[in-house]
Amino acid sequence: MTGRPRLAIHFFLTMMIAMLSFACVSDKVSSPAAVGPTPPVSAVSAATAEQQKSTDFNGDKAFAHVKAQVEFGPRPAGSAALDKTRDYILKELKSYGLKTTVDEFTPVTPKGRIKMKNIVAELPGESSGVIIISSHYDTKEYKQFKFLGANDGGSSTGALLEIARVMAAEKNKRKFTYQFVFFDGEEAFCPGWDDCLDGKDNTYGSRHMVDRLQSEGRVDNIKAMILLDMIGDKDLVIAKESSSSSWLVEAIWSSARKAGYGQHFPSRDQYITDDHIPFLEAGIPAVDLIDFDYEDQGESFWHTKNDTLDKISAKSLKIVGDVVLLSLDSIEALIK
Ligand SMILES: [Zn+2]
Repeated sequence: MTGRPRLAIHFFLTMMIAMLSFACVSDKVSSPAAVGPTPPVSAVSAATAEQQKSTDFNGDKAFAHVKAQVEFGPRPAGSAALDKTRDYILKELKSYGLKTTVDEFTPVTPKGRIKMKNIVAELPGESSGVIIISSHYDTKEYKQFKFLGANDGGSSTGALLEIARVMAAEKNKRKFTYQFVFFDGEEAFCPGWDDCLDGKDNTYGSRHMVDRLQSEGRVDNIKAMILLDMIGDKDLVIAKESSSSSWLVEAIWSSARKAGYGQHFPSRDQYITDDHIPFLEAGIPAVDLIDFDYEDQGESFWHTKNDTLDKISAKSLKIVGDVVLLSLDSIEALIK
């Protein structure tokens, strides 16, 4: 992830009382009697829940993508290791049959101009309206230690590749066109998230993409933006990011509950600055799925040498992959 400024993170720990919805059950009860035998309501509910839980997202495949990235070493913007990571991502996306584009830009950073590249893979749908699913693929640069970013940068990139593979293999065209976007330069070069450049030393890739959408008059064509960041923690808990668009949050949290993953998607809020913000500022609905509670017994792994593969799990990657994939039908239905 990201660099979410530690100081800017406000956890609003007001716990909401979980409201259990019985809409499904009452629908079944009140519907007119069908011809022939009908299964008991409990059996219908169980079958539906089981069906909604399952997608082709393979947690082991996603984990293997994270491992491959970690093996390239630290991957800050402009590094040779990030070039290798990009080649790996592009090779994977092409093997799924997706059309890929590399968008190169050279922003001014505290270290001078640095060449960065966003990766975009497109899956055409019935409509040219676009839903973006995204992650950053750079890692934060540290001189003092080897920062491997298994969770922060690695996990969401691995999951996004696996989401792209699953969706590219779907038999039916989706209602909307999907773009799988891998942002470069999310992390700040200065130690703190907004220490330098008046707070603009971060989210270089997402700001570049939004600038480009604006200059090309394509903002209205982007119907929704889903951002994944730090989603591999073995102890997965994704709170609702409070600046995210509420209808996207509700669609995703509802899918998580229906899939039986409600405990990983609690109702409490957190505020995180991340790659979704430039999209929100441009008026594009966006949501950030991020587990910022990345620690064990009070020891935080975020932006430390301990952000390593052993802290993340294939299971957490699958939970997030499943929930994102399962939420897409309802998100599509909510777009006018
Ligand atoms: Zn980070």
